[in-house]
Amino acid sequence: MYTGEIHTFWGNPYRLHVIEQASPPQVWLGDEKTLIMQIQAGMDRDERKVLLEDWYRRQLKKVIPDFISHWEPVLGVHVKEWRVKKMKTRWGSCNIQAQRIWLNLELAQRPPKCLEYIVVHEMTHLLERYHNARFYRLMDSWMPDWRDYKELLK
Ligand SMILES: [Zn+2]
Repeated sequence: MYTGEIHTFWGNPYRLHVIEQASPPQVWLGDEKTLIMQIQAGMDRDERKVLLEDWYRRQLKKVIPDFISHWEPVLGVHVKEWRVKKMKTRWGSCNIQAQRIWLNLELAQRPPKCLEYIVVHEMTHLLERYHNARFYRLMDSWMPDWRDYKELLK
């Protein structure tokens, strides 16, 4: 997390610019190419990493409710709870019984359409547990181009 590093947000690369200030640490987009990280003196790599992850998490939390409320009436399901998590092997998961979906923090680095695709995928599990023909028929019916977004997530 040092000046000059490239970090990706919503599928676009940004050059990190780190500045030191006595005021509370924060992160914001400078322009279409720059991500500004304001830190306090002595913040080490791990603390900077947490700061950036918190920022990514907040960006996801700004848009996820809109995706969910857009798709709920389309699918005819209700998401009781959702969370953003650091996940190692999956982009999302769904607990059908709890009607809860978890979304990978790294989705903030990919195009928003990829996040939307994962939201729809996990919500589809509320109707069909398995990745079977019915599941893919449903996915095709609400998001015919979902395979493109899956490809982008590779
Ligand atoms: Zn699945």
